[in-house]
Amino acid sequence: MKRVFFTDFDGTITNKDTCVAMVEAFASEGWREINEMWERKEISTEECANRILRLIKAGPEEVRKLVESVEIDASFKDFLALCRERGWRVYVLSDGYDFNIELIFKKYGIDVPYYANRMVYDGGFQIKCPYSNPDCGNCGTCKKRLMEELRKPGEQVVYIGDGYSDTCPAAHADLVFAKGTLYRYCREKGIPVMPFDSFRDIIEAVERL
Ligand SMILES: [Mg+2]
Ligand SMILES: [Zn+2]
Repeated sequence: MKRVFFTDFDGTITNKDTCVAMVEAFASEGWREINEMWERKEISTEECANRILRLIKAGPEEVRKLVESVEIDASFKDFLALCRERGWRVYVLSDGYDFNIELIFKKYGIDVPYYANRMVYDGGFQIKCPYSNPDCGNCGTCKKRLMEELRKPGEQVVYIGDGYSDTCPAAHADLVFAKGTLYRYCREKGIPVMPFDSFRDIIEAVERL
């Protein structure tokens, strides 16, 4: 079967959300309130990230060290190898930061196409959102739109994720693997979903399908 996988990055590929790690380590008071507004969809990802990044009291070098200390799911590279062997396409769709993804991919020797917000530093961090969607207005990287653009006719679309930014694309995939917030959301909304803890579970499940 032809298949394409779209997977979230933070908290899905990585064991820890690198954006959360950044704010926990370096942001001054007030970021949780801003993040809660984003979770309630009162502000967009772009506004949320730029307001929170203004609270970061560190430079790129300190952020690099922190992000490089984050580890990935022990089976993610096996998952990529399986997909390569079967000819299944894989894309990473992230509402996090390209800076962090690049560092982690380099650390682990991963080469997968990804779409994410651009994080830049000019005395302070800021993000730009080249993959936003005016019709959406919520996401920095609109995963639903990218998924619709990247899928090809006849492919089974599989979505893998864990958080709020995954709820929209998950509703438009043929098959969803989820943990955390996304899993609870899918159950509440009646979206068919398979739980996973590690990419090992996904490897075993797709080999059985
Ligand atoms: Mg996530
Ligand atoms: Zn969107």
